[in-house]
Amino acid sequence: MKSHTAYLWINTDKRYEIVHITNQVEEELKKSGVKEGLCLVNAMHITASVFINDNESGLHKDYLKWLEELAPFSKDGYNHNLTGEDNGDAHLKRTIMGREVVVAITNGKLDFGPWERIFYGEFDGRRRKRILIKIIGE
Ligand code: ZN
Repeated sequence: MKSHTAYLWINTDKRYEIVHITNQVEEELKKSGVKEGLCLVNAMHITASVFINDNESGLHKDYLKWLEELAPFSKDGYNHNLTGEDNGDAHLKRTIMGREVVVAITNGKLDFGPWERIFYGEFDGRRRKRILIKIIGE
């Protein structure tokens, strides 16, 4: 069995941002040489997500608006922020949007459904964070 591990570093300009990372994942898949297998992609931080959906900018704005309604930024509105942090909202946003995705690899390609693409969701940005890409198979 082949195995390939890569770390992708992201540092967003904004506190909240959705970043398209499908191309970077496909590059790692090429490097791996795997034709049949599985590709795991996960955020390595508890205030960021990796998820799959449509590469459509209106939808990305809708996500950020919806998340802000569910878990609005608030310096003193979260118990977590009693620790001195201000990112209580980001932990909740991360939970809603998920930690990781797994995509099947078929014939050397990510076997997506129609319009599926991979995104990194940042909810407490402006600092360097890592994404893990792990590819296994033959
Ligand atoms: Zn925190």
